[in-house]
Amino acid sequence: DRLKEGLTKTRKGFTEKVEQLVSGYATIDDEFLDDLEAILLAADVGVKTVAALLADIKSGIKAKQINGPDDLVPFLKTRIAAILAEGEGAPREAETGPTVIMVVGVNGVGKTTTIAKLGHYYREQGRRVLLAAGDTFRAAASEQLEIWGSRIGAEVIRHKEGSDPAAVAFDAVQAAKARSTDLLIVDTAGRLHTKSNLMEELKKVHRVIARELPGAPHEVLLVLDATTGQNALSQARLFKEAVEISGLVLTKLDGTAKGGVIVAVKSELGVPVKWIGVGEKMEDLRPFVASDFAAALFG
Ligand code: GDP
Repeated sequence: DRLKEGLTKTRKGFTEKVEQLVSGYATIDDEFLDDLEAILLAADVGVKTVAALLADIKSGIKAKQINGPDDLVPFLKTRIAAILAEGEGAPREAETGPTVIMVVGVNGVGKTTTIAKLGHYYREQGRRVLLAAGDTFRAAASEQLEIWGSRIGAEVIRHKEGSDPAAVAFDAVQAAKARSTDLLIVDTAGRLHTKSNLMEELKKVHRVIARELPGAPHEVLLVLDATTGQNALSQARLFKEAVEISGLVLTKLDGTAKGGVIVAVKSELGVPVKWIGVGEKMEDLRPFVASDFAAALFG
């Protein structure tokens, strides 16, 4: 299936290496654990998470849950699935009225494409979708969003370049209420060179949405590019300081052998992964299910 296919590179770079390691050893000794550590780090699982996993393995050995190299893959699969499953839940939605999803992330991570894919996902369920072009800094981003909007059958609220993103959000929420929209997806800017301004801007957009529609935004999704490995982790820390992130979207998992970064961001930030991108097409966004992910990774 598409998920398994999308994880091909990570399976080759990570799972297959673990399997090779396992077949090369008769017992788990220090050298084995050193090699395993190197494989996990190379897959971008992250220093802290790797240390935690190794500690788990050592206690698993003591507790006789792991009796030899062959027990390692099932153990890792279970542990990784458990880490990823923590805090797992369906995307939050409004009980009545429009559900508002605010989408944040650095330019180039796949934010616009993710918004289009999300819109498509909900349109496929027959729901009414409105998009808000909140990245008023990049004219191209708004244009791209309009193109996607017409492709997926969603209207787009757009102001002229350089206008206040909070005003776009304000108009979009009013329009969503007036048009009985099911989902409003709000794009935001992602220029990082003027970091503090950007974070203030995101806070303001969030404030306006919350003020105009109590309970909203129902989700604040941070989009991270899996191919950037540990950079994704530092971006996540930065955005988390500005707005309360309710979920992560990991894009471009199909383009990287470092899919282990998903384990690192989840375990080090404590924010659940809600969606994953495994390709450039509209259909290539998947709701994240930890057990499916672990099965595709190790299966
Ligand atoms: P933005 O600057 O964050 O809005 O990024 P875009 O949405 O314009 O995406 C940047 C590039 O990443 C585009 O070429 C997208 O097609 C590509 N992209 C986005 N998501 C994925 C994904 O899941 N897999 C792959 N292979 N490419 C993706």
